[in-house]
Amino acid sequence: AKADTNEAVVIGTGYGAAVAALRLGQKGIKTTMLEMGQLWNQPAHDGKVFCSMLNPDRRAMWFKDCTEAPLETLLGLPLVNRPIERYAGVLDKVHFQEMSVYLGRGVGGGSLVNGGMAVTPKREYFEEVLPQVDADEMYGTFFPLANKTLRVNTIRSAFLESTSWYQYARTARRQAANAGYGTQVIPNVYDFAHMEGEARGTKPKSALAGEVIYGNNHGKMSLDKTYLADALQTGNVTIKTLHHVKRIQKRPNGYLLTVEHRDPFGELLATKEIGCRHLFLGAGSLGTTELLLRARENGELPNLSEEIGRGWGPNGNVMTARTMLGGFQQSGMPVLAIDAWQDHEVFAEIAPVPAGIETLASLYLAITKNPERGTFHYDRRTDGITLDWRREQMKPSIRAVKGVFDEINRTNLTTYRPDLFGIGKVFTDDFTYHPLGGCLLGRATDEYGRVRGYDNLYVTDSSLIPGSIGANPFVTITALAERNLSRITATNLNH
Ligand code: FAD
Repeated sequence: AKADTNEAVVIGTGYGAAVAALRLGQKGIKTTMLEMGQLWNQPAHDGKVFCSMLNPDRRAMWFKDCTEAPLETLLGLPLVNRPIERYAGVLDKVHFQEMSVYLGRGVGGGSLVNGGMAVTPKREYFEEVLPQVDADEMYGTFFPLANKTLRVNTIRSAFLESTSWYQYARTARRQAANAGYGTQVIPNVYDFAHMEGEARGTKPKSALAGEVIYGNNHGKMSLDKTYLADALQTGNVTIKTLHHVKRIQKRPNGYLLTVEHRDPFGELLATKEIGCRHLFLGAGSLGTTELLLRARENGELPNLSEEIGRGWGPNGNVMTARTMLGGFQQSGMPVLAIDAWQDHEVFAEIAPVPAGIETLASLYLAITKNPERGTFHYDRRTDGITLDWRREQMKPSIRAVKGVFDEINRTNLTTYRPDLFGIGKVFTDDFTYHPLGGCLLGRATDEYGRVRGYDNLYVTDSSLIPGSIGANPFVTITALAERNLSRITATNLNH
């Protein structure tokens, strides 16, 4: 096929990609986005775009025979996961040898499946992780810009303090306080005005119907409703879905991509060659790193740095659960976190168990400071990547989380739940929601995400961040992309 040439191509449609597309489009630059997942805006046979967590179907997951929800069992029974048809569903779980990674697939990337928690990291830790980035500029300009454009909002305190839907969060807060731990209210991109309407019965239920990891049918301001909608509004951006970028080659005036276009059942429709002058990689920590490693190891982009693949981390993610009376009504969107960062380097989201029944469980997603890092390698045999990360590298995280929750259990006379993550396991050490790194800022790229060794090649996503950020990462990914794009559009695309 003849290659069409674009001024700019953006790979992916997650946070980093969406920022790039909007800022390029506003500059008048014709931009094509290539996304391997689907556009989620068409109701299916049941009138809904997304399936529910309690009754999942093929829409739930990316080409799996069975759903792979993070809670494996409930009350000791394997009630949570279901066999499904292989299909281009919205949530993926990628398995490496000793670590698995949850990812969103579709227009909006992780914003379609995540908890919407929009946390600006503590400035002191941000400065420790990314010392080369001007923190005044980030906290004065780019964090506020990201929060505004993502439409971050905060729950009304009168609602939080009174509604039955957050009884679980209030109880967990009180029990944390009994052990001397403070909590924080966490902003979110879920529209809390919509949620209050759900509680009153005037708006269709989504967060209050337990929807989250397989998509929200209402209320959530995912990227397709914010950055990507704004990007399309410029008239300069187009999105091609079910387009999976496989290869990147150098051409005298830019780059040539080999792209597989498939139907939602995985049938190959066409293999296309798409050319561009400027190439932005926003395929996420795993996707971007894989594309660059493959290109380097196959000799297609031989000048790429040895740094590509290095500096990966799971943001210290550990899940745990305790016995607690939480109530059968639980909003799917978390709004409180235990902040034990100062003394224990633990920031733990108080997560719901939205099962519609009393599960006697209080669930937490803890973010910890873990200095361990992993490395991706290209595997010629499978044409994919492997992750050099050992289970024992989670030990510092588990130790920290155990310190905090042993204390909470001791003071409240409660115990860990041994029946949620596989029998007998009380901490998870084998999966993450927050993959970070692989193409680090200032190492694999320059200080603005421009890839070392090649012109007009940029990384804009979570692969720039070195393995840890001490908070849920999408606000940081977005703000960093805003900062980098503002420099790139002013210097590299100024014509
Ligand atoms: P992504 O958002 O991962 O987007 C990458 C996109 O690129 C995807 O759409 C993917 O399909 C596409 N892609 C990949 N490879 C290719 C290719 N070769 N060709 C074409 N397209 C490709 N973070 C928070 O801050 N708050 C939360 O509450 C939160 N909760 C989470 C809950 C879950 C269940 C999960 C999975 C994540 C959660 N996260 C949360 C993490 C957050 O969603 C991610 O950090 C974020 O989405 C990463 O952004 P990104 O721009 O790097 O890439």
